[in-house]
Amino acid sequence: METPNDPTPISNRISEGLARLAMVMRSDEWAKAEATGLKPTQLAILDYLAGREAISRVKEIANYLGVSQPTATDSILALERKGFIAKTTSADDKRSATIGITAEGRAALSAANTVEGSATAAARALPAQAQEDLLMSLVTMIRHLQEADAIPIQRMCATCRYFRPYLHNGAVKPHHCDFVNAAFGQSEFRIDCREHEAADPATRAATWDAFQRG
Ligand code: SF4
Repeated sequence: METPNDPTPISNRISEGLARLAMVMRSDEWAKAEATGLKPTQLAILDYLAGREAISRVKEIANYLGVSQPTATDSILALERKGFIAKTTSADDKRSATIGITAEGRAALSAANTVEGSATAAARALPAQAQEDLLMSLVTMIRHLQEADAIPIQRMCATCRYFRPYLHNGAVKPHHCDFVNAAFGQSEFRIDCREHEAADPATRAATWDAFQRG
């Protein structure tokens, strides 16, 4: 039995804490989705498509959401029936179609995003420094999962070819984004940036080293 004198490793207890948060976040996702008459997977697909060019591969969506291709396909068909996404066939190749979000889909997504989840409210209740520290810990964990091939590359600054860590060392906003040519601080670090372009593996490793050295 676990006691304060004989605790399980801290990594296990962090994992337990994250599992509790994941439960709350699943319930938050249902509340957001239900507000717009959708299922959580359907809402997640709208969110995915809203920040990207039209895509052609269901597998890409399935991998990103961590669901099977049949599940992603069912959700895509349901969204198409509701008019929230549309398929466009190429004039050159009738067999190739891309999927994109419609104006109605964007409106549904905006409505869902007005519902604040309990997990977001709990994060907002943390002091500013604790929020920043938590964000950095999450970035580090997500990067670890990416490098272990447990998840696809996420659209984070840490993996972006435009990211210049500590270019302005010592400044309040030490990092630089070449895409917008602007300095930014630790608390502005992005987890899912629309402008992200993945750097090659060698650049990603060198950038991460520079970021860790500080
Ligand atoms: S483009 Fe986005 S992800 Fe890339 S460095 Fe700039 S803010 Fe970060």
